[in-house]
Amino acid sequence: MGLVVQKYGGSSVADAAGIKRVAKRIVDSRKAGNDVVVVVSAMGDTTDELLDLAQEVSPFPPGREMDMLLTAGERISMALLAMAIANLGHEARSFTGSQAGVITDAVHGKARIIDVTPGRIRDALDENAIAIVAGFQGVSQTSKDITTLGRGGSDTTAVALAAALGADVCEIYTDVDGVFTADPRIVPSARRLEHVTYEEMLELAACGAKVLMLRCVEYGRRYGVPIHVRSSFSPRPGTIVSGSMEDPNMENAIISGVAHDRSEAKLTVVGVPDVPGKAAEIFEAVATAGINIDMIVQNVSTAGSGRTDVSFTLPMAEGATAVNVLTAVQERVGYDSLQYDDQIGKLSLIGAGMRSHPGVSAQFFKALSEAGINIEMISTSEIRISVVTRVDSLDDAVRAVHTAFDLDSSEDEAVVYGGTGR
Ligand code: ASP
Ligand code: MG
Repeated sequence: MGLVVQKYGGSSVADAAGIKRVAKRIVDSRKAGNDVVVVVSAMGDTTDELLDLAQEVSPFPPGREMDMLLTAGERISMALLAMAIANLGHEARSFTGSQAGVITDAVHGKARIIDVTPGRIRDALDENAIAIVAGFQGVSQTSKDITTLGRGGSDTTAVALAAALGADVCEIYTDVDGVFTADPRIVPSARRLEHVTYEEMLELAACGAKVLMLRCVEYGRRYGVPIHVRSSFSPRPGTIVSGSMEDPNMENAIISGVAHDRSEAKLTVVGVPDVPGKAAEIFEAVATAGINIDMIVQNVSTAGSGRTDVSFTLPMAEGATAVNVLTAVQERVGYDSLQYDDQIGKLSLIGAGMRSHPGVSAQFFKALSEAGINIEMISTSEIRISVVTRVDSLDDAVRAVHTAFDLDSSEDEAVVYGGTGR
């Protein structure tokens, strides 16, 4: 037997009954002979509620205090879980991220892990205790302040700890039975994937699949930690994320799934002078503000006008900042106006096998056209095709593409056990 890191999400520990159920699962894994380290999220919607509360007292809460507030959510669940395990006759010790040795940079709200020194966790295991670690938090190496890793960050805590401890597997327990060919909340006939490569999972996560946080997958790939995604509500087998699509022994499915994202907005810079250097000026301004952009489209200048339109997508949450920084450089760049549109949705089709399989794009666009979906932007990678549509046709588009690629399951409908998907 070995060392397992298990992560339980907020919906798995939403109330006392959930905490007791999870405690039993942890003890079962311990009784099977494993050393167990558990990473836990805040109960239910606690993090959202704390965010709302902060907004009520201040429109611009300082980042340091925001992180202090939000990390309290995980402290509540870790202590309760340790108590529930003690009640089952096993020793469990809870640790904050800082106590567990999760060292980060100093960026509040989206800190990056730079080192993990889990000395106290090892000691606890050596003394036959189960270690419970608060997810989503760490301590800054420089400022010594408490930081958070960004929404959904407990996944990253779990994989980072698994890597540092040399665990055999990192199990991510969530409210669905694994990684599906589409979000079961939108496509009830979505099929569970038994296995996906890190590369495919990275594309899925980057394109809006919320089942795993992007950074946790990056971490897993870098350190070769197999990630086992499964439900804490059922004994079903789940999905294994491991291996590379470059591995010659691996048979790549043509399509692994359809992801969607409604958290982005589109910004169009209208009437940009069609001369060298203008795109650089626009995107430098946006980059300086720390905004991550996604798709970019430049339209050919209308005959003789000498001007062109540049559109790009970005997280809706950064929309106001982008408009401000671009307005500040309007005179220098010499563009006419800005158009901001937050009623867009992004749909992506992902599959390692599409690299070597012709005709995928044709089939994809045909499915969208038959469903009467208008496409506003297109971008591709080796193993992905993405389009932007109106947000209110996104769900229909997802279902149409899912069906066109024969991804629908013939078995029972996928079950969503909890959570709001918020
Ligand atoms: N509680 C945090 C959140 O809701 C972290 C997590 O759940 O992973 O984002
Ligand atoms: Mg959560």
